Amino acid sequence: MPEFWYKEFVCQLCGNRFNYPRVFSDAISVESRDEDLKPNFRGVNALYHQVVTCPECYLTLFERDFGTLSIPEEKMDKVKRVLENAKREFGELNLGEDKNVDDAIKLFSIAAAVYTVMNHKRGAAEAYLKLAWLYREKGQEKEEKIALAKALKFFEAHFKEDITNEKEEPMILFYLGELNKLLGSRKEAVKWFSILANKYRGVPSPYVKAAQERWQEVRD
Ligand SMILES: [Zn+2]
Repeated sequence: MPEFWYKEFVCQLCGNRFNYPRVFSDAISVESRDEDLKPNFRGVNALYHQVVTCPECYLTLFERDFGTLSIPEEKMDKVKRVLENAKREFGELNLGEDKNVDDAIKLFSIAAAVYTVMNHKRGAAEAYLKLAWLYREKGQEKEEKIALAKALKFFEAHFKEDITNEKEEPMILFYLGELNKLLGSRKEAVKWFSILANKYRGVPSPYVKAAQERWQEVRD
């Protein structure tokens, strides 16, 4: 069974047109999940392939944003500077099917920096969360903690300042609770888990289910 297919993207920053490997959904198999719902894959590690990188200018965004999310004129210089720094620091990137955890760490670091300078809090939160998961796969606990703390900061800012997409609210509330728990703020964790568990009682969602379990756990 083929694991990859190639999708054409047009870079919104430099206009480069390129094909990029995407994982067939049939090839994705989740073997287990960590407590914060990090998926652990059997076979292809789909996490490594969730961002798309322009081979020309290094612009790196989640697939849903690549080619579509417009970069405001006033943010352009900052984004370009981030990408120039990445080129200098990382040199050649592996953008192929055989990306390993180190390759993915580079790509998610670029994505996190791009979303950060664009002040795109939702994107930065997810990029830092997934960067933390990659560090966990490598056993780099210190780097994982730093990335989790940044993810929490951006989830909080996103929840406070932006209009949250209603469909995403359970996920956002779950990570506000879970990241506070992982970083040792039990009181804050209980607060967010209880909001989620009460507001979405009976709603079939893995985040609601997990929040109900955690709420019970942290209160005990
Ligand atoms: Zn580009």
